[in-house]
Amino acid sequence: MIHDVLLLGAGLSGLKAARDLQAAGKSVLVLDKSRGVGGRAATRRWDGVPVDHGAQFFTARSPEFRAQVADWIARGVCFEWAKGFHQWDPDAGLQPPDADKEAGHPRHACRAGMSALGKDLAAGLAEGSVRTGARVVALAWVGDHWQARIEGSGDVIAGRRLVSTLPVPQALALFEQSSADPAVGSALGAFVSSKLQAVETAPSLAVMLRGDVPAPEWQGVQLRDDTITWIGTDSDKREPAADGKRVFVLHASGPFSREWQNRSLDDAADRIVARAGEIVGDWITKLPERQVHRWRYSSVPHGLENDAYLRNGEFGEADGRPPVYFAGDTFLGSKIEGAYRSGRAVAEAVVAESR
Ligand SMILES: Cc1cc2nc3c(=O)[nH]c(=O)nc-3n(C[C@H](O)[C@H](O)[C@H](O)COP(=O)(O)OP(=O)(O)OC[C@H]3O[C@@H](n4cnc5c(N)ncnc54)[C@H](O)[C@@H]3O)c2cc1C
Repeated sequence: MIHDVLLLGAGLSGLKAARDLQAAGKSVLVLDKSRGVGGRAATRRWDGVPVDHGAQFFTARSPEFRAQVADWIARGVCFEWAKGFHQWDPDAGLQPPDADKEAGHPRHACRAGMSALGKDLAAGLAEGSVRTGARVVALAWVGDHWQARIEGSGDVIAGRRLVSTLPVPQALALFEQSSADPAVGSALGAFVSSKLQAVETAPSLAVMLRGDVPAPEWQGVQLRDDTITWIGTDSDKREPAADGKRVFVLHASGPFSREWQNRSLDDAADRIVARAGEIVGDWITKLPERQVHRWRYSSVPHGLENDAYLRNGEFGEADGRPPVYFAGDTFLGSKIEGAYRSGRAVAEAVVAESR
């Protein structure tokens, strides 16, 4: 079977694009290497309790995303978690949220964890439209359609059009490793290639801590610091745990995570926790249980915030081939809202181009 559109990545951008493409009558297949959907809006289970080790919360500023969030709230997928968070800086120390400044942009989260967003988008797709555990390792253009080869099984999936929502380094690596096929080599095109090469992503380390402690006065602390950028009370987003334990999530800064990218995760976590102790108090360093997660592509410090997606028209010009599209949180601001809006925009473009 040849699908109308093959989407790489079942994060929020890929799933939103798939939803809109399907609503416009296109058959889609979304491929993702992970076990579940939602990408970096990710949740793990810690003894059955959801913990967000990726995105912590999200805001909605554009009318289109506000409408989606209103629908999610109405159906209980997410809720307004906070109006703003404590801030910390070396001179002023820990400061409560500035109520006036923050009032316009509620911070939303999901009781079941942030992966609820991806699961909800995927649930609206026709059965069989998403294949997880499917890492795409090679692409080929064969006459009038794309083929994506899946690692392990060697399965080959076919689609007339291709939309990549992979983080840019992973997209570039995939095209690079497929470039023996001259059509794939030209699929990026000079213009798109140079724009994507200029995108800068940053890694992040997430440390999760758990213990039986009283609730702190803050839901989350945001900070500009060499070592950490976020200390959150993850359990504040959930129903109270039966065992009374609280979970905290710490995120390391991009520079720190880069420096520790190929070094011991445990040693990195020790430093992250020690730094958190200097900010919110020594008690946090004494929490007895710990997990660590390494994100290789966490954020996009230098993305393409003025574009909604990229389209390589050059690929199509020669022999009537359809353009290749790149979308995701590289565009429109490196956040959940940007990913969603980029997915919507790319779907609209594909529908317009394939009418
Ligand atoms: C630690 C951390 C904290 C964050 N905090 C926030 C926050 O508080 N608020 C906020 O709004 N945003 C936050 N973000 C950013 C937010 O999570 C992302 O902007 C958004 O989820 C990106 O969605 P996406 O669809 O563009 O990409 P992704 O979610 O990355 O989706 C891309 C998908 O491609 C898949 N993939 C990669 N390579 C292949 C391959 N070869 N074959 C098949 N599949 C592949 C991946 O498994 C992934 O599921 C955070 C991110 C991280 C990591």
